[in-house]
Amino acid sequence: MNVETPQASHASKVCERCIGRAFANVGTGLANPERGHNFLQQIENRSKLVHIAVVEEEQCQICQGVFQRLDAYFQEFTDQSRGIEFKTYLVGSRFPKETMEMEELLQKDLGSDQGESIKREFNREFGKAIWAGTGKEAEFSEPDLNVIVDLNYDSFQLKTRSIFVYGLYRKMRRDIPQTRWIHRTDMNTSIETLIGDILMPMVQGRNYFLHGAGREDVDVQMLGNGREFIMEVSEPRIRTFPLEELEQRVNSSGEGVEISKLRFSLKEEVAKLKGSANDKTYLVRVRAPADIERERMVDAARKLTGKHIYQRTPLRVSTRRSDLIRDKTLQDVTVEDTIGHIAVLKVRAEAGTYIKELIHGDEGRTKPSLSEIYGEPLTVESLDVIWIHRNGE
Ligand SMILES: [Zn+2]
Repeated sequence: MNVETPQASHASKVCERCIGRAFANVGTGLANPERGHNFLQQIENRSKLVHIAVVEEEQCQICQGVFQRLDAYFQEFTDQSRGIEFKTYLVGSRFPKETMEMEELLQKDLGSDQGESIKREFNREFGKAIWAGTGKEAEFSEPDLNVIVDLNYDSFQLKTRSIFVYGLYRKMRRDIPQTRWIHRTDMNTSIETLIGDILMPMVQGRNYFLHGAGREDVDVQMLGNGREFIMEVSEPRIRTFPLEELEQRVNSSGEGVEISKLRFSLKEEVAKLKGSANDKTYLVRVRAPADIERERMVDAARKLTGKHIYQRTPLRVSTRRSDLIRDKTLQDVTVEDTIGHIAVLKVRAEAGTYIKELIHGDEGRTKPSLSEIYGEPLTVESLDVIWIHRNGE
């Protein structure tokens, strides 16, 4: 049995521009309509087109006069892009499948492999119209505004590039996570929402994301010189705004989150930030079952200083992280104070060290631990990051 596949149809009426486009990559300095015109001046070329009537662009079955309507498209673009801030743009387009097929057949019939597609010509010509009409620059790698014209429906899609704001945050509370927890609807507040809910309306964006240089636990304060972050807002209509205003509004919101050193950033910096690994200094309040013996604690701290510890993935995160053993170095452990059952320690440790587990030992999964060396089961009362040692600070 023969299964008939629908055949792409040949155009019977085409314009000089669509003929010229078949030779777009031959020679230089001509626009496609002139190329087509010159081609048709030669009698032997005409013979390649015996079944085809050469018509005006409006009657052409391939382009259907789309290049004659660039002014109208530009007008539509102007209306739709009103209020969108952009310096650079890039035009893309979608054409009906039949158009693309007819064009391919025509170029084949003309025996040319030097053609360009109607999409390419449209993107270029409409790009020029936007440049002429707005004075903005076309940009191919990361345009502020992507302009997609869908010729199937004569519709426009305008999509702006995300904006990125770099900064440092400090968190002076023990009850919010860094980012939104999609699996916990009862916990809406996060550092991400406290910044994003202010930033997003300022730039009239669609959504926001906080990219952090690592993260601390919900119950850990982030003090000292702060943690680096980049806030991304997708599809913003505004790209420039006073960063001081954002800083001032977040810091005066009374929510226990402070931001500083804000500047505009780029997408590339996100990966760099997420890949950074710096030593951190922590202040940790440790509780013992009985009064702390100061000398014994000082001695235990001294024994851990400069030591390698081995940490198997903690039980509390083992559902989210693969089970492996990390070798971490503790640069410095000192006892700052002891009061009754409580000892206050300062710990400088390599990036990625689990401090809570260093104290209590995580059922033998962290070795050695302070509990093991001190000789009593110790628990963590509170933990703060007090310094992130960036650039050798
Ligand atoms: Zn045409």
